[in-house]
Amino acid sequence: MKKYSNSYHRTVNLKHVSLLIGLGIISIVVIIGAVWFLYRTLFYDPFPEDASMTKQAGNLTQEIDDEKGWMVRYPVFDDAAIDDSISQIVDESKEAADADQQVVLDYRSKVVYDHYISVLFKETVKSEDQEQIVYRSVNYDKKQKQLLKVDTILRNQYSQDLLDGAADNDVKAVEINEQNVLIYLDGQQTKTIDYSKNKEYIALTDPNIPSLYQKEPLTVEKTKEIDPDKPMVALTFDDGPNPNTTPQLLDTLKKYNAHATFFMLGTNVKYNPELVARVYQEGHEIGNHSWEHKDFARMTDKDEIWANYQKADDAIFEACGHDPTHVRPPYGSVSELYNKVVNRDSILWSIDTRDWESHDPKAIQAIIEKYVNDGSVILLHDIHIDSVEAMETVIPMLQKKGYQLVTIDDLYRYGKI
Ligand code: ZN
Repeated sequence: MKKYSNSYHRTVNLKHVSLLIGLGIISIVVIIGAVWFLYRTLFYDPFPEDASMTKQAGNLTQEIDDEKGWMVRYPVFDDAAIDDSISQIVDESKEAADADQQVVLDYRSKVVYDHYISVLFKETVKSEDQEQIVYRSVNYDKKQKQLLKVDTILRNQYSQDLLDGAADNDVKAVEINEQNVLIYLDGQQTKTIDYSKNKEYIALTDPNIPSLYQKEPLTVEKTKEIDPDKPMVALTFDDGPNPNTTPQLLDTLKKYNAHATFFMLGTNVKYNPELVARVYQEGHEIGNHSWEHKDFARMTDKDEIWANYQKADDAIFEACGHDPTHVRPPYGSVSELYNKVVNRDSILWSIDTRDWESHDPKAIQAIIEKYVNDGSVILLHDIHIDSVEAMETVIPMLQKKGYQLVTIDDLYRYGKI
């Protein structure tokens, strides 16, 4: 009996214990629930701070729309030039949010060497089953009062050489730092470009940053006034600059408030850097006419083709701190290989004055007068004094006919090419 009684007691005890454990679990669940509820209502932040997003420049602004599902943080600088670009990014983020996806935009900002403002935006788009991160950037030079696009931070050929051929539009964002430039590519890849190792790729002009151009940045003296509704032509001068002839041409152009494009040879640029700087400052366009005027159609090595432009680019950048946008192949001679290698607009001409053959200002003028049209690209050579002298009558003749004398860049800008 005693044995039985013992086992009875044991059963009762076990029941109590189970009940207590059950109650205990329920209490714990209730307490955790209550704490979680309190935490969520009082402290929970659906948009937590990201420690990597340090904010050293601009006034932090934060906006949240819980209903639409977006939160944006961005800096305000009280300077329309940079604030407008930032607003664009912010507005796009807000618009990207919808019932299915939440958008969080955060940023990090800094001032580099007292005048470069670099803002990197990190946009996180969350939907039920995935999270996507996109980087964007706004870079601004306070000293020059200008926004810095990729091609004013890095020189033309950085992509071919450093980014394994990635195109400009693969670059999602650029961040300027004291020691390097950080490139954000598609798929969250990044590429670090150290100033110390890659000075020839750097387009920034700051004495603290190694680059091929270490002088004060050049600015264009006067802003051009172009009426897009009136006809325009581009005078283009090849093979210079030449200290014996080019300055006289520049004087003539200035006298008539006319602009032109100079397709320069690298070998001549190297020996006349001041002349190159003058051409730039007077508002003309500088184009690349290769290093030493070789026939590209005869070249079978792609590296040789590119090196002939790269070397001239370097010389031009070294002289004026700017890269040429357009190239003109010597003799207008190209090949299939050339077209594959040269990833830049090759500019030929619509009027060949044959000035190198006639050396006759009257004949040059007659050809231009006969064929000129809205959008004409006129081929001349500023290494020949007759061509330079012809401009004394050609320019007033063209202006009298209502033509504005503009650069190749201008022809592109106004849709003439
Ligand atoms: Zn030429």
